[in-house]
Amino acid sequence: MINTSKKELKDTVETRRTFAIISHPDAGKTTITEQMLLFGGAIRQAGTVKAKKTGKFAKSDWMEIEKQRGISVTSSVMQFDYQGKRINILDTPGHEDFSEDTYRTLMAVDAAVMVVDSSKGIEEQTKKLFKVCRMRGIPIFTFMNKLDRDGREPLDLIEELEEVLEIDAYPMNWPIGSGKTLLGLYDLYHNRIEAFRPEVINKGERFIPLNEDGEIDGDHPIKEQSLYDQVLEEALLLKEAGNEFSETAISNGELTPVFFGSALTNFGVQTFLETFLNFAPEPSAQKTEDDTMVDPADSDFSGFIFKIQANMDPKHRDRIAFLRICSGRFERGIDVTLSRLDKKMRLSNSTQFMAESRESVTDAVAGDIIGLYDTGNFQIGDTIYQGKDKVTFKPLPQFTPELFMRVDPKNVMKQKSFHKGINQLVQEGAIQLYKAYHTEDYIIGAVGQLQFEVFEHRMKNEYNSEVVMTPLGNKIARWIDPEQLDENMGSSRNMLVRDRFDNPLFLFENTFAMRWFNDKYPDVELTALL
Ligand code: GDP
Repeated sequence: MINTSKKELKDTVETRRTFAIISHPDAGKTTITEQMLLFGGAIRQAGTVKAKKTGKFAKSDWMEIEKQRGISVTSSVMQFDYQGKRINILDTPGHEDFSEDTYRTLMAVDAAVMVVDSSKGIEEQTKKLFKVCRMRGIPIFTFMNKLDRDGREPLDLIEELEEVLEIDAYPMNWPIGSGKTLLGLYDLYHNRIEAFRPEVINKGERFIPLNEDGEIDGDHPIKEQSLYDQVLEEALLLKEAGNEFSETAISNGELTPVFFGSALTNFGVQTFLETFLNFAPEPSAQKTEDDTMVDPADSDFSGFIFKIQANMDPKHRDRIAFLRICSGRFERGIDVTLSRLDKKMRLSNSTQFMAESRESVTDAVAGDIIGLYDTGNFQIGDTIYQGKDKVTFKPLPQFTPELFMRVDPKNVMKQKSFHKGINQLVQEGAIQLYKAYHTEDYIIGAVGQLQFEVFEHRMKNEYNSEVVMTPLGNKIARWIDPEQLDENMGSSRNMLVRDRFDNPLFLFENTFAMRWFNDKYPDVELTALL
């Protein structure tokens, strides 16, 4: 075993940056991720991640359902080195692949990058994901993408961002033109202009320096353009009426620095990445259940599981538990305790995620994500730790499901495997389970459709239980204090069910039904999960 001093460990931890990329589908998340991986030398060719996503890279060990949908496991966690930092990017899948996993992934990061399509502005999925980041109070960095297209006015976009997401914004740079007229980025933070087509407007040089007043000294073809004057005016306006730059507000997640650019043409991405790395936090101390903080530079290893991916290799029926390291240094074969069961185990088979392949873990410390081969020991939210003192990290939050299905076994003679499968999958956090009052029907809830498909697939393949699923559609789930409950309150428009801890809740047909209920029972308090 390597004996690392605390100082050495601390220095290593300080190089880690772990963040998620969030966006609405098609905003350009994959494209920008790829550009970053290219800078880091983690992939050699643009299109690699994309190819995996679209299934051009057939790999035999992906779960069937993943193959069909072209989601790759290896691209859900990517790691690369850049300018002395080790970066972990966690992908959060788009709409069809959306699930509770997506939300939980945000529990394992220290910052988030929000990619916005500048021709569309803030879209639905971004809003949902943003909400979870906000709840955690982590720094959020915004990349306004697709500047090479005719988009919306930058001021408009900033205003919408602030209004819809209720966060202050600070533009780190400002576009000079857009679409066909795009000349470059006016970058007051670095006091320079970044040219969009340097070969056309700046003799091949990417940057044009600015003087103290934020202007170009002497003659320059850009100064002859009316867009230049316009941008100076807008910059002045922002200076006078805009938010103040505050590193504290950024790290508290109250102010989002906004960068403009175009991922596809690789314009502004490097500036973004380098500035982001300056401000993005290193792994922070993690809170345990009894409110003590675990320092990332503690020599004892600890971490928590935020995602379990089953059947990555059908031949072995294996599962991989994704673990966020919170302290210590991971070494192959270390002995740890699984906190929930006080169970000792040896971590001999583990893997680290790289952009192009899974590799075995080399040097993993706080902030890094590793995959542990699991034979059924782990559940979502589990803590594992080394050392004498028991560590249990705070439980991961539960999210309010929005989609519901009634589920029955196809073969009534196979009740046993049906119940076993459901219980296991519910415990693992793959799906949420409810029971209807009186009928005792099983109702499962999810935040994304994919969860149902995974559920069905796993029931059949892992528990030999075929299920019949009857869609109940979108519902609004609201919990009610059992003291206030009268079973007659339930109706076809607000179905009364119990969760797996026997807490009562209503599944409202729509907001109209919920309002109607509120009016009828004004004293009854309805609560949501996150
Ligand atoms: P994701 O769904 O958020 O991962 O989005 P992708 O990265 O797959 O991009 C969606 C589409 O937008 C693709 O066709 C990209 O080529 C395109 N795209 C991404 N970034 C840009 C950009 O900066 N400019 C333009 N014009 N298209 C872009």
